[in-house]
Amino acid sequence: MSLYEKNKDSFNESIFSSHNIGSELSKYKMPEKESDPNVILELVKDELFLDGNARQNLATFCQTFLPKEVHELMDLSISKNMIDKDEYPQTAEIERRCVHILSQLWHSPDEAKSIGTSTVGSSEACMLGGLAMYHRWKAKRKKEGKDYSHPNMVTGPVQICWHKFARYWDIELREVPMEEDCLYMSPEHMEKYIDENTIGVVTTLGLTFTGAYEPVEDICKALDEYEKKTGLSIDVHVDGASGGFLAPFCAKDLKWDFTLPRVKSISASGHKFGLAPLGCGWVLWRDISDLPENLIFHVNYLGGDMSVFQLNFSRPAGQIISQYFLLLRLGVEGYTKIHQNCYHTAQYLASELNKLGIFEVLYDGNPEKGIPAVTWKLKKDAKVTFNLYDFADKLRSRGWQVPAYSLPAHADKIVVQRILVRQGVSLDMASLLIEDIKRTIEYFKTHEVVTNLTAKEGTAFSH
Ligand SMILES: *Cc1c(COP(=O)(O)O)cnc(C)c1O
Repeated sequence: MSLYEKNKDSFNESIFSSHNIGSELSKYKMPEKESDPNVILELVKDELFLDGNARQNLATFCQTFLPKEVHELMDLSISKNMIDKDEYPQTAEIERRCVHILSQLWHSPDEAKSIGTSTVGSSEACMLGGLAMYHRWKAKRKKEGKDYSHPNMVTGPVQICWHKFARYWDIELREVPMEEDCLYMSPEHMEKYIDENTIGVVTTLGLTFTGAYEPVEDICKALDEYEKKTGLSIDVHVDGASGGFLAPFCAKDLKWDFTLPRVKSISASGHKFGLAPLGCGWVLWRDISDLPENLIFHVNYLGGDMSVFQLNFSRPAGQIISQYFLLLRLGVEGYTKIHQNCYHTAQYLASELNKLGIFEVLYDGNPEKGIPAVTWKLKKDAKVTFNLYDFADKLRSRGWQVPAYSLPAHADKIVVQRILVRQGVSLDMASLLIEDIKRTIEYFKTHEVVTNLTAKEGTAFSH
């Protein structure tokens, strides 16, 4: 017997000679036996190739570029649970510091009295902002001896998390419909939807569909007028998922935050333009009294008295620690420069798309008006055989994910395409994309599209 034969079981097989290679990975049933981790790791990693390249995903608002320091911090904190505040007191302190920094960035009138928390993302943050709004309204109605069984909420064209909020908590959602000539909630439109049962108005700083900011200040002014006329005071929550980490750096004159007294809460995604890794959101209230006491739970089973008001319990702490690192490491200067570069790239894309003559740019990445994104549609007289679903599908063959989708409500005849410019989408990369866009137009000139793709058949995209 050779030495190899004798020690065969203690030799590591080569990955591609292993028995696992001869069969598919199990899809429905847990295997009975253990396997070599290296082999399974390789096969799982290989499956992930089909996901495409996150950096070429121009649909997402979320971070896809993370510096090595963030990888190091995430690794270091992989087993820290942010909810165990007694066990990880310094992590809890770091979360508090982030809340303080944000309250200052968002112009809290009295930082000591503002309150907030980290969340999994904006969705959880919006749920909390919405719930607080609902409970404040309910308490007020109760005190006045009025009916509180028909709450409604008024919004512009919102992200899906607000549809969830309304359905999960049984609140009537009055979403001011998008019109072909007005792709956001204008104060005039809003006024038709508010009444005494309105728990609050949600405005979005960076609409999902176009990237444009809603006019928070004008909405607040209209609500001031409404209060003068009717005596009804309606609160505002700003969904600043993207804009909350952009406007403080790139639109300093814009009034949208706690500078406006009517704004009672603000939510934002740390993992979007906060530059933190996935799984980080924030919600802040202007004053501790704006977060109803009945939403706060006091628990002591982890040691110490701890107040919690998130929806989730256990959650990884690395995202919060990374957020703190980024706030410190980049400072106002770093965030401003990174975001300005993104706006610059977005504007470059908008002007190049304009030059092609067949597209109409609906939003061009103006830092005073919205987020670093470009949204466009085909011109009515474009005289092309393809639609934007075909166009998106063809771009995908070079790895670019540029979603095409129709706008909501009364603007649903308009099909648009949108590019999100995040940290990591450099002007150089954008110029390569423009070359591919030109090639695609040429391709469709010689390969006429006979049957256009429908929204369903096109690249699936959810907001
Ligand atoms: C992304 C987004 C959300 C949801 O945020 P997540 O962090 O993905 O949970 C909510 N509102 C707006 C405006 C968004 O852009």
